[in-house]
Amino acid sequence: MRVYLLSSQTYTPEVIAVAFAKTSRSPEPFDVIAREISAEQSAAFHEKWVIGYGHASVAEHAVVHIAIEGVSRLALEALESARLASFTEKSTRYQILDADAFVRPPELQGHPLADRYEAAARHLFAAYHALQEPVQRVLRLHEPTRTGETSTQWARRNRTAYMDVCRFLLPAATQANVGMTVNARELAHTLRKMLAHPLAEVRALAERIHAAARASIPTLLRYVEPDHATQQALAQLAAALPPIGQRPVATLPIYVPILHRWDPEGESRVLAAALYRVAAWDYASALAYVQSASSEARFDLARALLGHLTRHDIPLRELEHTWYTAEVVLDQGAFYELKRHRMMTQTPQALHPRLGYMMPRAVAEAGMAERYHEAMRHAAATYEALAAWNSHVASYIVPNGYLRRVLLTFNARQAYHLIRLRSAPNAHASMRLFAYHLLAALRKVHPALYAFLPMPDEAEWARLTKYLMGPYPGTGKGS
Ligand SMILES: Cc1cc2nc3c(=O)[nH]c(=O)nc-3n(C[C@H](O)[C@H](O)[C@H](O)COP(=O)(O)OP(=O)(O)OC[C@H]3O[C@@H](n4cnc5c(N)ncnc54)[C@H](O)[C@@H]3O)c2cc1C
Repeated sequence: MRVYLLSSQTYTPEVIAVAFAKTSRSPEPFDVIAREISAEQSAAFHEKWVIGYGHASVAEHAVVHIAIEGVSRLALEALESARLASFTEKSTRYQILDADAFVRPPELQGHPLADRYEAAARHLFAAYHALQEPVQRVLRLHEPTRTGETSTQWARRNRTAYMDVCRFLLPAATQANVGMTVNARELAHTLRKMLAHPLAEVRALAERIHAAARASIPTLLRYVEPDHATQQALAQLAAALPPIGQRPVATLPIYVPILHRWDPEGESRVLAAALYRVAAWDYASALAYVQSASSEARFDLARALLGHLTRHDIPLRELEHTWYTAEVVLDQGAFYELKRHRMMTQTPQALHPRLGYMMPRAVAEAGMAERYHEAMRHAAATYEALAAWNSHVASYIVPNGYLRRVLLTFNARQAYHLIRLRSAPNAHASMRLFAYHLLAALRKVHPALYAFLPMPDEAEWARLTKYLMGPYPGTGKGS
């Protein structure tokens, strides 16, 4: 056995990819193959095999780390839809942002609505800053020092708590920095989608990423064309649809997922698959056994599968044998975190202010409710003025507090991961609320599978459900 690194300090990403690809036909060890490959040979190899014959998985061995700064959070939604990439992003929970930390969309350059956009963004940032001190004061009273907590730890916790509240006012135009680690295959796919995006900022970002990455991966990223056809066809189709009435905001279940699809036999299928892994049975026998087992026996089986996980353990893959489709309405700040769960299939609708908005109760307790409502309404009116010209650009001005609707398809393992991570005490209250509502919904249909994830106690549940006020009406236009 030999195990070693093909160092990225010695070899370029494309040479490493060729060295790995060549093991398919070469008897030589990897380091010998790598030493013998010149940049020209590597380029010729990739042109012939990866680009020419479509052996695209080879490109996964060419990895780059891309630093991206000063991009809007709206543009990052397009970038972060790359499922097989890794991201770490500047947080709005742990940093206070400057008054002009927002992107001016290229489409607005020299446009008559540019000043109105600028004023609305500044208005939101001014309210965001104005809220900080009074909200911090109120939360200090709610969050006394815990036993054993130092004053620095307490101050940090208090700061996160008031930033969590104030960030509801930040628009999608808010600037972010993100570090991205990605392989050439996934990057090419992501760039193709981004180059066809309706926002000029996203297309420009794709071009800048392409140029930066090509310094390191010149051949594998040579042919990256926009993928226009599907998006255009869908947009044309949607434009011809008749308008339908919007459900009144007050009747929308917010943070509560509507389960549109689940498998009534899903729990049995997961448990049968777990048995199948260890017993020498065929699948039909395992399924029949589980289906006829008492509920006690099913819980025992579920306990063996899920009852012994430590915080670092990931549940076995057998949980992937059942799937759900759910629809949820949640605030944009929460959606922005939800979208990072790459393994799920997520279809968000456009960001607009028409479904209404939420307000953290601490804003009212700090005596800042009127300021908050006024800033939210001002942003919504600016959105409508912009949307009459370009609804994609209008989304930049929508603050985090407005509601967004998203369709999710996921398996039980993905649900498990999300609920564990996002119900933790350090997660944002909106996400915790969603995570617990998701847990409650899944427990109803597959009780044994979700019995080992705890629901909050009454006091914690009351605290969470009181965190937000609303929904307050949005502009209500559209369908
Ligand atoms: C309290 C808290 C604070 C956070 N702060 C920040 C922050 O400041 N900045 C920020 O950018 N994010 C932050 N996050 C988001 C976090 O880093 C994750 O991106 C997000 O929670 C999604 O989780 P995930 O990547 O585990 O989930 P998913 O993308 O759903 O992945 C599910 C699981 O699949 C596996 N997996 C998926 N992709 C890979 C991969 N490429 N390599 C290896 N394993 C993989 C992992 O086991 C992962 O847990 C924070 C999250 C929490 C809970």
